[in-house]
Amino acid sequence: MTGPLVPPGPLTTGTELNAVYAIARVVAETYDTETGLDTVFRLSRTIFIFDVVSLFLQNETTQEFEPAYAGALGRGRSREEELSWGEPAAQEAYRTGQTVLRQEDAGPAVEGRDRRRDFLGLPMLVGGRCVGGLVFGRFGGPSFPPEHIRLAEFVAWHVGQLLENRRMAHRIANLEAQRELERMQDEFISTISHELRTPLGFIKGYVTTLLREDVEWKPETRIEFLKIVDDESDRLRELIDNLLDSSRLESGRLGMTTEPTRISMLIRDTAERTRSAYPEMDLRLEIDENLPSVNVDSTRISQVLDNLLSNAHKYAPESTVVVAASEERNYIRLEVRDNGPGIENEHIPHLFERFYRVPTNNNTVRGTGLGLYICRKIVEAHGGKIGIESKPGGGSTFYITLPTIEHSEKSEAEKDDERE
Ligand code: ADP
Repeated sequence: MTGPLVPPGPLTTGTELNAVYAIARVVAETYDTETGLDTVFRLSRTIFIFDVVSLFLQNETTQEFEPAYAGALGRGRSREEELSWGEPAAQEAYRTGQTVLRQEDAGPAVEGRDRRRDFLGLPMLVGGRCVGGLVFGRFGGPSFPPEHIRLAEFVAWHVGQLLENRRMAHRIANLEAQRELERMQDEFISTISHELRTPLGFIKGYVTTLLREDVEWKPETRIEFLKIVDDESDRLRELIDNLLDSSRLESGRLGMTTEPTRISMLIRDTAERTRSAYPEMDLRLEIDENLPSVNVDSTRISQVLDNLLSNAHKYAPESTVVVAASEERNYIRLEVRDNGPGIENEHIPHLFERFYRVPTNNNTVRGTGLGLYICRKIVEAHGGKIGIESKPGGGSTFYITLPTIEHSEKSEAEKDDERE
């Protein structure tokens, strides 16, 4: 079924022209369909008389014929519950693609003139396709004269345009979302391929070199090459672990096993590992005595600290790095501070997003932008927060808060209370 692609006309003269013009303008300027319909029907009432108006559209998924809008003006205002009365006229207009006039009897329950109802059904055309029916209802006669029918057709055409605007806006939003997704996927693939290729390139290169039969390698050279292969394999494994963690965190499949943990012990163990990994790092601890225990998955919280310390090593080399832990009101606050280059303000809101890396001219520092995202997800899964205080040239302080056992039990109890 197709219909006219231009509004029916000529329409009217004199003062009515203002309303007609206003309707056309609303349609051209409004993207909010509901508000647009309210205004169009309010303006329509100034050029022809009706008491109720309803719009029925065929649901594309369920194929049901459903009311999409209903409004009562004039005498219909007190009878909002009866708005679906126009449905047969809407159905018929939709089925035939033609304007229809129906007269209905409200039945003996309605006394007086209002018992008679006239419904004007108009096919609803959107993008050249009939998608539903618009109905104007009038209580107690007289019926709609031909000039009002022409005005109603004019209004129906514009309502179709409003719906077309909405359809186009949805399509554009979907296309934009899809394009953004494709862009992110491309970026992801190119980042990950590059990151996987680099260690693999080293491994392949050194192993091939060692396998050359025409060269006799000195034992210390062989050890040196094998150490590089060993380091790069670790890096490859770390990268794959991060990728898996990140996808499990995204889908909520990364399980946590929490138990009461002494956080000072956890920090000391992490610091020891860091010192042996980066012997040149000036690492200091500032841990309050008598910190209460916290309910955490110690492997995961160590992973967070490892990550922050390895970032300090990567992005603030030669800086003194401090790990501090103190008790605040209901939580423990951990900090990893460096006095490295710091981070520009504009990047801070994005640092904890997946794959976000601060753009830089220095390509020698390798990374994927997954580390801080994983840290955030782990900390949030513990009911805590992660954040950063940093300014260019002034170093960076990454902080984590973790609820103390007493507080997390209290908030669980509060949640239970709320549930009851
Ligand atoms: P990656 O290290 O793989 O790039 P992260 O998510 O761990 O990913 O870090 C995101 C970005 O935050 C890094 O690319 C880096 O620019 C910045 N960053 C992280 N830690 C620091 C730090 N201590 N000092 C300065 N910049 C940092």
